[in-house]
Amino acid sequence: MILKDAAIALRIHPFGNTSRIVVWLSAAHGKLATLVKGSQRERSPFLGQYDLFYTCELLFYAREHRNLHILKECFPLETRPAFRADWRACAAASYAAGAMDRAMPIGPAPAGWFALLADTLDRLASRTPGPAFLPRFELRLLQALGLAPGWDACSQCRADLRGGAAARLDVAHGAALCEACAAGQGVVLSAAALQALRQMRDGNPPPSLPERVFREVRVLMGGLLEHHADLSSRSRDLAFQILAAG
Ligand SMILES: [Zn+2]
Repeated sequence: MILKDAAIALRIHPFGNTSRIVVWLSAAHGKLATLVKGSQRERSPFLGQYDLFYTCELLFYAREHRNLHILKECFPLETRPAFRADWRACAAASYAAGAMDRAMPIGPAPAGWFALLADTLDRLASRTPGPAFLPRFELRLLQALGLAPGWDACSQCRADLRGGAAARLDVAHGAALCEACAAGQGVVLSAAALQALRQMRDGNPPPSLPERVFREVRVLMGGLLEHHADLSSRSRDLAFQILAAG
């Protein structure tokens, strides 16, 4: 069966002397891998048609019950040339694409997963991001996975958390709690961090975060990602360092 889809190249591996395996995040078929036969030959029709972080239109032979499909045609829709010149944006793109790659096995992806990556890459390619870009991306990633805590009310007694008091985050359960329900357990969530998280969630991120709030949000997102999405912190630390270096 031949299928058509739009997809973003997440990873490219050599296969034999002249072929490549490309792992894609596609719009309709989730995460999939294709063999690109002879792509490194001089006259290959695939030359220049795909690269990391390109969005491409694919035609592929879907092999049922096999995880490796055969790429038949490939046409670049969005090449995002900024990543060849802006190494900081490229580092952030690597982190974002890598996190989404590791968070999902080959197969169907959550609704909005492809759009989240496409939008993240488009933003990174159009403007060098500031440090606050990454926690916002991570919050959107946790939301897409259904792992983001509710930041408005205590997950136990439903007390309103928008009144300007600090609260606590139960990282293991991915839940925000009022001080009374937390009874001293969990990570402190300052009122300023809670507000910043709500603004990020609502697509209305503050233009800049005070250093203290930024650090707090960074640690909170890191704890949730490590605990629930099993993401290693090494590439994350590197991406944060690179964006902060500007
Ligand atoms: Zn409570």
